[in-house]
This record gives sequence, C-alpha cells and structure tokens, in this order.
Amino acid sequence: MSLNVVKDATCTFCGCVCDDIELHTEGDRIVKAKNACSLGDAWFKNHTAERLFPDALIDGKPATLDSAVKAAADFLYDANMPLVYGLSNITCEAQREAVALAEMIGGVVDSHTSL
Ligand code: SF4
Repeated sequence: MSLNVVKDATCTFCGCVCDDIELHTEGDRIVKAKNACSLGDAWFKNHTAERLFPDALIDGKPATLDSAVKAAADFLYDANMPLVYGLSNITCEAQREAVALAEMIGGVVDSHTSL
C-alpha cells in the first residue's frame, strides 16, 4: 500500500480552521495528521469514506430517522434543563437551527470544545 501526503489540508473540526495540516494516508485511511492538535488528530484519523453508522441510534440501537427525531423531541420536552450540545461537523445552517431550538425550549447551547 502506498503512502500519500497532502500538504496544507484544512481541519474544520472546532472552528479554528487550521489550514497547515499535513495528512498522510494509506489507502482510504488517514494515518497521520501532522500539526493538528489532539482534537483534530482524532477527527482526521477516525473519519473515512466508509459508512460506519446507521442513520440514527436510540439508546445505542439502530433506528429510523423519524423515530429518532420523535425520541429526541420527547427527551427535550421532558428535560428540566435542556442542553443542546455538540455542533461540530455540522453546517452553519444546522447550527442556526440548533440555536433556534435551544431558544424555543429555554435550553442552553454548548459545543464539544468546552471539554
Ligand atoms: S481541532 Fe485542532 S487542528 Fe482542528 S481546527 Fe481546531 S485547533 Fe485546529
């Protein structure tokens, strides 16, 4: 298997958008992300072109998207202090919808970078 190197790759994981990442790939997998922080390194190395997960999960089990949306709505409706969390790897439009949802339900927003 040959090693490929991509220079000046951009990491879009946390929003800092570092654009000096050097990626090393073997086949479909990224094996090294030089200059990336630990978050970016994990992000690059754990993303492939393979489809690893179903469209949705409920309690860790595969579910339809419709049933997952209903389950999420039920969780949020029943929550005392709803938290809209994550928001990485999604579009600006999706982030906008998440913030609107948090405002609608009286919740708060946090991103994974608070870790
Ligand atoms: S996760 Fe790390 S490498 Fe990626 S954009 Fe953010 S700071 Fe840069």
